[in-house]
Amino acid sequence: MTQPAPKDWIMGISPYIPGKSAADDGRPLIKLSANENPLGTGAAARAALVAATADLASYPDPAATRLREAIGAVHGLDPAQVIYGTGSDELLHIAASAYAGPGDEILYVRYGFAVYDIAARRVGATPVVAPDKDYATDVDALLATVTDKTKVVFLANPNNPTGTMTGREEIARLHAGLRPDILLVLDQAYAEYLDAGEDDGGLELAKSATNILVTRTFSKIYGLAAERIGWGYACPAIIEILHRIRAPFNVTTAGQAAAIAAINDSGWVESSRTHNARWREWLAGEVGALSNHGLRVVPSKTNFLLILFDGTLTAEAAMKGLWDEGYATRWLPGQGLPNGLRITIGTKAQTRAVAAKLRAMAEAA
Ligand code: PMP
Repeated sequence: MTQPAPKDWIMGISPYIPGKSAADDGRPLIKLSANENPLGTGAAARAALVAATADLASYPDPAATRLREAIGAVHGLDPAQVIYGTGSDELLHIAASAYAGPGDEILYVRYGFAVYDIAARRVGATPVVAPDKDYATDVDALLATVTDKTKVVFLANPNNPTGTMTGREEIARLHAGLRPDILLVLDQAYAEYLDAGEDDGGLELAKSATNILVTRTFSKIYGLAAERIGWGYACPAIIEILHRIRAPFNVTTAGQAAAIAAINDSGWVESSRTHNARWREWLAGEVGALSNHGLRVVPSKTNFLLILFDGTLTAEAAMKGLWDEGYATRWLPGQGLPNGLRITIGTKAQTRAVAAKLRAMAEAA
């Protein structure tokens, strides 16, 4: 029987498999597998969202004008240069499709965010992976992997799943080393978790550059992952191109309202960041104390830790053991890290329970 034939390159895509939120038997899990805010959503964002559901019959503001203004005011950006997406994922995909296609290369670092591979293949471009340096970005290796076919470079900063961060000078050096016809996508999904002064300078750089797109999300510290809303900033020419291919009405009315409230709720952001920093350092210390059992933490600037298991206790066994206690975490064999387990920083009680279970498993192994 004849059927529509998908493009060859579509068949090369391994679907993105998100962390589980329920066990196979339907039992709910405590989800430390998707890097969401364990404290949830701030009251202001929740109230704004509920109020915005009063009118469900009308389409959302297609230009997201108030949202762009709010983002511009908080970050000192021209709202005309702010674009919004159904999650920052949509922006990654449309950046790839606007600037690359069959025969082109899309470059990223080993252990880069899983969507980069899919975004490249989806448009028929070739994903090219540059070597890392101890799980972090090696700018020299990245630049050395550029070819005359490179059209887009994706860099998550800080990166998921490693949690590592490339500093301001290195980002500037990367940008300076790229041909001006290559689009550099700086994916700052976890930027709000950085301490003051740790900023990678991407937004500042993008104010004068003509080949940088910075992407951000409301899914992480703002606690709005359910609403699927992200934003990006670039020069007018790039923004104009991306608008051509984003989905119409790609951000809901409730999402826009909640995001405006969330970005202005600095108290919620600050308490979430403080909570995260405290329990991330605490968990890193607890895991570090298990180094005699082969456990190691990759230094993290995010709301999760990548733990490497090189002793008797394997990452897979640790994932299963935590699962038995009701905790979903992210084992990463599909991303070339069969010894890696990514764990979101949860509430105090969750983080303590995870540490206790890891210790018990490591000592028993
Ligand atoms: N970039 C990175 C590095 C991420 O980890 C994520 C979420 N896992 C995203 C982008 C996409 O997030 P969203 O589409 O929810 O904005």
